[in-house]
Amino acid sequence: MNRKDFYTYLQNVQTIVIKVGSARVSGEDYEINDFLFSLASDIRELRDNGKKVILVSSGAVSQGKKVISSIKNFSENVIKSETPEKQALAAIGQSKLMKLYEGIFSRVNIPIAQILFGTLDIESSKGYENLKNTFNQLLQWNVLPIVNENDSIAIEELKLGDNDFLSGMVSLVVGADILLILTGVNGFLRENQTVEFMREITDFDLRMASGPEGPGTGGMNTKLKTAKILLKAGIPSAIVNGKKSHIIHKFFQAENEGTFIIPEVSHKNLSEREIKDLFNLK
Ligand code: GLU
Repeated sequence: MNRKDFYTYLQNVQTIVIKVGSARVSGEDYEINDFLFSLASDIRELRDNGKKVILVSSGAVSQGKKVISSIKNFSENVIKSETPEKQALAAIGQSKLMKLYEGIFSRVNIPIAQILFGTLDIESSKGYENLKNTFNQLLQWNVLPIVNENDSIAIEELKLGDNDFLSGMVSLVVGADILLILTGVNGFLRENQTVEFMREITDFDLRMASGPEGPGTGGMNTKLKTAKILLKAGIPSAIVNGKKSHIIHKFFQAENEGTFIIPEVSHKNLSEREIKDLFNLK
């Protein structure tokens, strides 16, 4: 794909899932605010161009750490990271995370909604249908769904993926045209060079993809695994550097940003069963 085709392709996408990892909403307040400002204005631009957007965001655990370390008066790094601690931290931090989003999206006039779920919730067809209906209704009302794993009950992402797999699942449930994963590096790197386009993801690529360096659990490996699942479903994905200002705008202008993973055949219209099989769900 050359850059002109890439640009044309991007202009035609309709439904976009954007995934934000814990690292982007952790750290100093000014860093978080800069990131959120850039995110909200880019999403506003996409919506003004008629696109439908869904945001998948981690960060509940890191927000919870901030709260508990200030009330208990101890440093954030003495908090243990066993799963029950992380679950409790997520329960504390989820509303703080939403408060950040409420603050920034109200400034750009975008109403938001919270959706929390885990794979257990959609194992039954009823749960799957209900989730899909909620997304559809919110999108029809032009409300921005903000999704996180329901960490008090589901722990898959706390253990493995910092919501990478969850964002893949959301992309399939809503039939997205692209999943955009914001991370802390320029995309998938081979020999220190960003790979611009990928048609397939090999086992060697997966081995080369390094683990997390920041506060989340995912790393490049779970991002590529998610992209590989989406390839099978005919949904393209991209891994871009969320540390860069207005990265979403730049990506949609095809400004040579990140790694774009493109399926041979787009949108295969998979059934609920086929989608669940891709994620090894019952
Ligand atoms: N759902 C978790 C959160 O919002 C994921 C964090 C992690 O993977 O550590 O913080």
